[in-house]
Amino acid sequence: MNIGIDIDDTITCTYETLLPMIAFTYGMNLNKLLEQKPTYRMLRSTLPNYDNFVVNHFSSMAKIVPLKSGVREVLKRLKDEGHKIIFITSRNSLEYNDPYKLSYNYLKLNNIPFDKLIVNAKDKAKECVLEGIDLFIDDNTKHCIAVQKNGIPTLQFSNSFVRENSKLNRVNSWDEVYQKVQEMYI
Ligand SMILES: [Mg+2]
Repeated sequence: MNIGIDIDDTITCTYETLLPMIAFTYGMNLNKLLEQKPTYRMLRSTLPNYDNFVVNHFSSMAKIVPLKSGVREVLKRLKDEGHKIIFITSRNSLEYNDPYKLSYNYLKLNNIPFDKLIVNAKDKAKECVLEGIDLFIDDNTKHCIAVQKNGIPTLQFSNSFVRENSKLNRVNSWDEVYQKVQEMYI
């Protein structure tokens, strides 16, 4: 299968890395911020000069962001079993300094196997169709719904700040992703 995979908050703990940086920069109480579980949209609409914060911090954050538990092992297993791994991320040049190079180097440095990396993917459904994706994994509800509308199965990677959606199959771990792929492949 061709497996399309998002990067931020799907293979990496981006949100958990970002919130302490926001608390520090804006002089906020981190515990309170964590309790509120603000969405990215809420952060963007409520924090002053958030665009500047993004430009100044996202590139360095993306270099140090930790991987989600088990993701490297599961992707290695899937690759060994003959699946193709195609990363499809909406990281773009407005928010990141050279998003392709940054993401490519990060994946290599962290020994993540992959066949292709697509950045600046505003319309992920379009990219999935172009790449012949058979299964798409992303934490973002909007992207999962759009891809599913094109007849491509999706798994929504669960995050504390994303509400459940009855239309989507949700997974809570990379081991669960592996299980679902086995079920699909039989
Ligand atoms: Mg994401």
